[in-house]
Amino acid sequence: MSIRTMLLVGLALCVVAAMPVMAAEKASKGAAKSSEPKAPPVESPPDKMVGDYVGTLNTGGKDVAAEANVVREDPSYRIVLRAPAAGEKFAWVDLPGKGDASKVTFSGGDDAWTGTIENGQLKAESKAGKVDLKFTVKKSPTELQKPPAGAVVLLAYEEGKKSDTAAWTQLKGEPCQWVAMDDGSIQVKGGDIKSKQTFGDFQMHAEFRIPFEPTGKGQGRGNSGIFLHDVYEMQVLDSYGIKPEAHQCGAIYTQTAPLVNACFPPGSWQTYEFTFRAPRFDADGKKIKDATVTTVQNGVKVQENTDIKAPTGSAKSRPEVKAGPIRLQDHQHPVRFRNIWIVELKDEAK
Ligand code: MG
Repeated sequence: MSIRTMLLVGLALCVVAAMPVMAAEKASKGAAKSSEPKAPPVESPPDKMVGDYVGTLNTGGKDVAAEANVVREDPSYRIVLRAPAAGEKFAWVDLPGKGDASKVTFSGGDDAWTGTIENGQLKAESKAGKVDLKFTVKKSPTELQKPPAGAVVLLAYEEGKKSDTAAWTQLKGEPCQWVAMDDGSIQVKGGDIKSKQTFGDFQMHAEFRIPFEPTGKGQGRGNSGIFLHDVYEMQVLDSYGIKPEAHQCGAIYTQTAPLVNACFPPGSWQTYEFTFRAPRFDADGKKIKDATVTTVQNGVKVQENTDIKAPTGSAKSRPEVKAGPIRLQDHQHPVRFRNIWIVELKDEAK
């Protein structure tokens, strides 16, 4: 064997010997990467075109109340015109739009609508009528409602003061990691949280803010949730301008769609009021009556004494109970909560 050949063989042996080490390093780097926390989700800057427009529809020579939701679904807009008082054909008119934050144009629908949105005015015409609507910021009638005497305050709200999360823990009992924001809310971080206290029958007030995520789709827009008893998810999602459905905001997740869409646009503070009755069990622990909930979202009833048949979605493996905590969901979207309180109901009647 020549010296050159010996050197080449030696080099090849060194490479072979080093391969397992290199592979192990690669594997450990991969493992380190997968255990690193994901980058925090980021909210997009607001778009002043997005939101509610309120005014009138003129049809058949008469003016009736009308409104529109302007939704951004990148790279487009979507305009939902609604004037239910003028009949079924005006109950939900969904039209594609294009443009930017200075001007949006839209057209389509059975009646061949064409319209524009500019300077806070939405104007449109069709074979069926004409709408003239103005940009309007809606507020929930119960926004910042104070807890009554005797309420259990789970998340106190005081303007300009950071929230105290002492009533909550992460799922395994570690201190709550959600971030206390300057606006007096807390924002999702580090997994779901649970209230330390448990509740049977109760009334609950909660406020939530869904981020503006125009590139997200379906369940990937501002997803979170409020689990009553830790097992029944009342969905929190950007469902603005979307037909009521059992996966949308206002729904008992996967079970019962809201009666109507009562959502405000992303970036708004919204309210939920729940009147919840726990399931009832016989002496052997067998369920004899489903839990029920009445839900009011932004002042509008979206569930009315609805039976909750079983734990929902991701909670399916958890048992139904007489009393349980409240869970807030971290679904990797920068959703915020504030002003959460509960009034326990002693009345056994359902
Ligand atoms: Mg959810």
